[in-house]
Amino acid sequence: MSGRSSPAHARLLGVRIDDVDMDEAVARIEAMLRAGGTHHVVTVNPEFVMTAQRHPIFREVLCRADLAVPDGTGLLLAARLTGQRLRRRVPGVELCERLAALSARTGARLFLLGAAPGIAEAAAATLQQRFPGVVIAGCYAGSPRPEDEATIRARLRQARPDILLVAYGSPAQDLWIARNQPELGIPVALGVGGSFDYLSGAVPRAPRLMRRLGLEWFYRLLRQPWRWQRIWTAVVRFPLAVLREHCRARRHGSVQ
Ligand code: UDP
Repeated sequence: MSGRSSPAHARLLGVRIDDVDMDEAVARIEAMLRAGGTHHVVTVNPEFVMTAQRHPIFREVLCRADLAVPDGTGLLLAARLTGQRLRRRVPGVELCERLAALSARTGARLFLLGAAPGIAEAAAATLQQRFPGVVIAGCYAGSPRPEDEATIRARLRQARPDILLVAYGSPAQDLWIARNQPELGIPVALGVGGSFDYLSGAVPRAPRLMRRLGLEWFYRLLRQPWRWQRIWTAVVRFPLAVLREHCRARRHGSVQ
């Protein structure tokens, strides 16, 4: 990994998030492809930040990432609450679409790793239909289990992707990338959560108006009520923890 260079960022509970919009994120990834070396992009949401509080290895992986895009309205609000700035949300699924457009334009090779069997292939078919000329180097569900790593590495060595999209959920996907990317030498790898489920149509995204109002989490709660604990973490525990830390920092005169 090459380390980060963006000066504009927010720091929430010790996790750095870059203040980039979608165009800037794509431009940064294009520059990574030109620069050579390996680069890890993380799509941070409030749950990532909360997991990082009790998982030091994950926290380290997030802090070492070359680009951390804000994938969650809660991050934008928390930044504002603490006198920082994150301008726009960069949803992982939309970043996947933009990278497919980049691939169609430049010939960069995409590999879709993760999700349930058949879902990555269906997501790739959607991308091929919407972005004619996109180069799909391969698709494979696999799993984040260590015993599957050898098989996945062999497939990736053969496919030689430029951009690896990993959909194993958090924190597994970014831990997987941190363990495997350096040896594989893949130029850009990013964890994309449930993006393949959305692209394939297996899971519908919230209506545009709800997304615009920052209510995607509420739509998910209605559609997938069993996720309530994760949503509670993102919507209640995360802002409270941010506020608590901010008040403590103010008391000690070290506001970020
Ligand atoms: N997933 C997987 N293997 C696992 C765990 C998760 O392939 O062992 C996939 C899952 O099928 C889904 C994605 O990881 O496509 C993560 O989905 P989730 O909705 O949890 O991600 P989020 O966007 O909320 O981080």
